[in-house]
Amino acid sequence: MNEKEIEKLKEENEGLKEANTIRTNLVSTSAHQLRTALSAFKWTLKMFLDKDFGDLSYEQEDYVKKLMNSNERMIELVNKLLILSHSEEASTSLNCTKVSIVDLLEELISEFYCEAKKKSVNIVINTPKAKIPDIKCDQDMVRVILENLIENAIKYSNSNTDVSVSIEQKDNNIEISVHDNGIGIEDKDKDKIFHKLFRANNAIMKDSNGSGLGLFTTKDMVERHNGKIWFESNPEDGTAFHVILPVS
Ligand code: ADP
Repeated sequence: MNEKEIEKLKEENEGLKEANTIRTNLVSTSAHQLRTALSAFKWTLKMFLDKDFGDLSYEQEDYVKKLMNSNERMIELVNKLLILSHSEEASTSLNCTKVSIVDLLEELISEFYCEAKKKSVNIVINTPKAKIPDIKCDQDMVRVILENLIENAIKYSNSNTDVSVSIEQKDNNIEISVHDNGIGIEDKDKDKIFHKLFRANNAIMKDSNGSGLGLFTTKDMVERHNGKIWFESNPEDGTAFHVILPVS
């Protein structure tokens, strides 16, 4: 290797280091901001449960408790994210166990029940009669993957429509699909959907709260499981996201 080539390699190495620092800082900053917001949310919910604002009906208390549980889980997840963002091994360590995707999906759908109800969106889950096998995966990551897709489907849905989540086995893979009848993705935006920080104009108009990090992270997590993610969409029929994850 001559001096010029060594110099070029050094420069490339510096560029990669810089990109990695930016990525870690972005994750760390976002996670901290999230934790602050989630913590504020937690205390407000606690005030409701402690009856600081007056009595709650049985149904109201039940909803607030469900929210409290999801909030706690989000705080845990954000804490892990903070730890990961400070770890040099962040991009390599998967903590794989056997996971029932059907149970996970049912749990997530009940978590999103309040949000969907508030937006008059009905979530439907379609599972086949045949048993879906457990898959070997990092449960926290797969939870984030599915949360991002279901959350987006609800967020970008039109009111009084369905979001349907289906799951099927295809050979040694599990395919999960999330279909909505929402705003859709315009052709001009399709190749940018998984880019970091990208948000389409129709999405910004529908919901100003978004980071443009969800699908970027989701794709990364799917690929770290040797899976695939893709979508079909048009503004008339809405959007369907599909994820394939290997069983083992
Ligand atoms: P955001 O925080 O903006 O939802 P994401 O990374 O999750 O960020 O998604 C990136 C962009 O992809 C969104 O801003 C939106 O333009 C588009 N998108 C994602 N899911 C949907 C969907 N179900 N329907 C329409 N557009 C979507």
